[in-house]
Amino acid sequence: MTNHPHLSPLPFKGEEQDPAHSFPTLAPRGRGWGEGLSIARTHVLGWLRETDSARLESLWREADRVRRQHVGDEVHLRGLIELSSYCRRDCHYCGIRSGRKIERYRMTEEEIMECVRTAQKLEYGTVVLQSGEDLGLTTGFITHLVRRIKTETPLAVTLSLGERSPDELKKWREAGADRYLLKHETSDPALFRLIHPHLNPLPSRERKPEEAPSPRRGEGRGEGSSLNERIELLGYARTLDYEIGSGVMVGIPGQSYESLADDIMLFRELDLEMVGCGPFVPHPDTPLGHVVIPSEPREGARFLDSSDSLEMTERGKSRNLAVDSQVPATDTMTTKVVALTRLVCPDANIPSTTALATVNREQGRELGLERGANVWMPNLTPVKYRALYEIYPGKATVTDTAEEFHENLLATLASIGRVPGKGPGGRKRR
Ligand code: SAM
Repeated sequence: MTNHPHLSPLPFKGEEQDPAHSFPTLAPRGRGWGEGLSIARTHVLGWLRETDSARLESLWREADRVRRQHVGDEVHLRGLIELSSYCRRDCHYCGIRSGRKIERYRMTEEEIMECVRTAQKLEYGTVVLQSGEDLGLTTGFITHLVRRIKTETPLAVTLSLGERSPDELKKWREAGADRYLLKHETSDPALFRLIHPHLNPLPSRERKPEEAPSPRRGEGRGEGSSLNERIELLGYARTLDYEIGSGVMVGIPGQSYESLADDIMLFRELDLEMVGCGPFVPHPDTPLGHVVIPSEPREGARFLDSSDSLEMTERGKSRNLAVDSQVPATDTMTTKVVALTRLVCPDANIPSTTALATVNREQGRELGLERGANVWMPNLTPVKYRALYEIYPGKATVTDTAEEFHENLLATLASIGRVPGKGPGGRKRR
């Protein structure tokens, strides 16, 4: 079992203690770390392992009920603009990792503003400016861009630009950015290290002493420090009054059920405004693209350690990773995570992700929305750039223009009895 230092030690002691994976009861909550809905980790783990379809139906129903009660039938539309495919990181799962020799692009200000105007025309409430971790998108450029969007449109602005410095986050917030999205991908420090090689040299944080978030309890630098840095950065963004978002990939090779349960508990602990979870989709030209995931637990299996990372990445070959209980990267497992996230973070904004719509092209988007999600992030990136932002193969809707896609989106929402959200669609706290 993995133990995240931020989580309360609620060990999984077996199904016999959790016959019904009981549903949570609301506990008093407020703003800040560590408050949320009361649900034991053991129940979360029980649901993640549940295979009985009738019982799963009750999970979907409960998540849908909580979603309706807390955030209603509106589906908030966030127009996604993929600003740049340059990236200084070399994440082992990602198709735009720095190690790949691929054609790269960076959008101009006018190209971006055109997408922003499309968002406004289609009555989306938010634009999400996302990119690889590209320092060519300078502090000044993003500051100017955010200011322009906030001056010229009523749109909310979400930034998802990776691990940028606290000083930059502060400037962008002052320019009007509303939200910062930085997925931690997994709360398991060992797995995080395996899939995220350190930058070399490590990035300087350029923090002024008064800006530096204090270390979280029980942690120093070293073990899992990059994971901590991400979480600290989110905490710092919150002190600037950003709405903050994080999330994980479901079914990363080496991800155990226990670690995924920890992820869900961490969402609650961080009291996130936004939680995005999609399935891991293997990209064949990445180190994790060829890892063979065993479908059944194996005798004598062990959890990953850092020597696995060397084998995966430096020898660059396929190999079996023997993991005690590997989470499958399926639509059902992903929607379990969406549903449980809705239960632990009842008023969060939770997208039904493109990755989910990619692994289940017929129904993935709808399943997410019917099992707890209330956000859809249509892609507004110009079609000529989309294929170059290939974080994984077969990204759904890669060739539809924004307008074509919007028609289908409205029809899909109507077919499941949901309506497009109005206004910026920030988190409404109760
Ligand atoms: N650079 C920013 C960052 O690191 O937060 C944002 C861009 S990053 C490409 C956006 C997200 O893509 C990541 O948070 C990750 O969850 C997702 N992603 C990348 N590769 C993926 C894969 N193979 N399967 C599923 N999701 C993937």
